[in-house]
Amino acid sequence: MSKPTVLITDKFTLRAQTLLEASCSIVKSQTPSCAHEDLSQVEALVIRSRTKIDKNLLARAPKLKFIVTATSGFDHIDLIATETRGIKVAFSPEANAASAAELTWALVLACARQTVDGHTAVKNETWNTHLRDGIQLCGHTYGVIGLGRIGTRVARIAQAFGMSVVGYDPYADESAFAVAQRVGLEELLKMSDVVSLHVPYTRETRKMINRSTLEYTQRDAILVNTSRGEILDEQELYEALKKGWLKGVGLDVFVKEPLPSDSNLLKNDRVVFSPHVGARTEDAYANASLEAAKQVLEFFTTGNVTHPLPPKALWYASPKGFN
Ligand code: NAD
Repeated sequence: MSKPTVLITDKFTLRAQTLLEASCSIVKSQTPSCAHEDLSQVEALVIRSRTKIDKNLLARAPKLKFIVTATSGFDHIDLIATETRGIKVAFSPEANAASAAELTWALVLACARQTVDGHTAVKNETWNTHLRDGIQLCGHTYGVIGLGRIGTRVARIAQAFGMSVVGYDPYADESAFAVAQRVGLEELLKMSDVVSLHVPYTRETRKMINRSTLEYTQRDAILVNTSRGEILDEQELYEALKKGWLKGVGLDVFVKEPLPSDSNLLKNDRVVFSPHVGARTEDAYANASLEAAKQVLEFFTTGNVTHPLPPKALWYASPKGFN
């Protein structure tokens, strides 16, 4: 029997490619966009977010049966177009959860102990004379918004720091609350010394952190967002910071990326930034490649899809989700 042709369109580890080569005929695309690629014989695509899947691309791939993205995000795939063509689609949601949780904690600690200012002070030879006092985390309360793959890991780390952990997630079942006490959003914001966001971007989560939710937030809390920029209202966050609210804010994600140089947020010293690198570790990249390769093999062996898209999550199917 001939091997199915699999086109890899973007970065992929050699280890994962070798795993696929045993049962598939591998072709590597010239560019992630696949603009000039011959897709006529391709039966499976292995992509990352730089490959946009739309009706036009699908029309060039008459034999395509399966697409897997080696990423946890999937907004680069037109899922209505794939469903219309009967093409199965999968994503790789587990691969970067640990890396994203660790980056969240890097930002929490940077805010709690002003590690960025401290680094600059040593370099500028001002030592610690102008540094504000930090806060100790042990004994304080951590609020996790969204107790999925990343939020749960973040909560476990908070427990290891000796913090009380509260969580808000209307779609998670009781088992998710083994790591956090279940509370409402307002209660969480009022109780927590540190708050971090781990929700998907949906109609419901858009600007979830805004002027009114910031009113509930403790004035000297730390707020960290490593989920999506749209989850918080950047202008209203800036206004809260201007009033002296919040001890520190850690941001990895922004409405516009790269963050425009005229963003107000850049004016405030209490904000610590990272350039959307939650998933940028060698391990996350290797895990994602392997997770995607295993799903291709599973699909061609059994017809099953381990992590199908659209996701089966309750929030996705809810009227306030994507549909
Ligand atoms: P996940 O699907 O495992 O978990 C999301 C959780 O949010 C679920 O438990 C869900 O029930 C909950 N949720 C949905 N709607 C909610 C609402 N309105 N209020 C409260 N909770 C709600 O997702 P994940 O893998 O943990 O990822 C979380 C977010 O992190 C996603 O937005 C993802 O895109 C982002 N992410 C960012 C990076 C990065 O590089 N910064 C890397 C990976 C993931």
